[in-house]
Amino acid sequence: MKTIGIIGGMSWESSSEYYRIINEEVKKRLGGYHSAKCILYSVDFDEIEICQRNGQWGKTGEILTDAARSLEAAGANFIILGTNTMHKVAEKIQSGIRVPFLHIADLTAEQVIHKGINTIGLLGTRYTMEQDFYKSRLEAKGIKVLIPEETERILVNDIIFKELCLGKIIDRSRAEFKIIMEDLTAKGAEGIILGCTEIGMLVKLEDAKVPLFDTTVIHAVGAVDLALK
Ligand code: GLU
Repeated sequence: MKTIGIIGGMSWESSSEYYRIINEEVKKRLGGYHSAKCILYSVDFDEIEICQRNGQWGKTGEILTDAARSLEAAGANFIILGTNTMHKVAEKIQSGIRVPFLHIADLTAEQVIHKGINTIGLLGTRYTMEQDFYKSRLEAKGIKVLIPEETERILVNDIIFKELCLGKIIDRSRAEFKIIMEDLTAKGAEGIILGCTEIGMLVKLEDAKVPLFDTTVIHAVGAVDLALK
């Protein structure tokens, strides 16, 4: 079994989901007392969030590359970064290490294509929905990406940062997500990417009429696939 290096803490609530899913998946496949070989480097999200708001992406790239190097030095055979947003600096991280970096959008795109879906809705932070680093990765694989209107994007972003990343799960926000997902479906989305690693704590598969792609689950299971290959 390979050792998975996890850069987490963004938020720690979602990292604990990664840890649970990875271990459940290893146990499901290998049985008995088996659990995952993994190392978690958990950053202080406050530092990262301040950099995001101030557009200091270079600084976040340095913090996360240092984390990846520490994981590599500690024996990680490959690295995953437990946040969609910070994949904005994925290339910088990958270029700073020798071991492979498993990109969350690539694994998600594979699943979307596997389901035969051409047009997908994307929910995540405003950085993920509005900037190019994530959408372009999906579009490069021939997937058309739809995002909500600005008012809804602000609402989704607020729910992520003011509730989910603080560990608050609020029913009213789930109802808002359902409306936004229905709206994307009416506009032609055949499925929706939960492109933020906390959304799965609020929204469940049965909350939408189209297939949902929970990036936390996809990424964690993809890491187990590689670890056991
Ligand atoms: N975990 C989130 C994501 O998947 C948001 C937190 C962050 O900005 O990193 O994008």
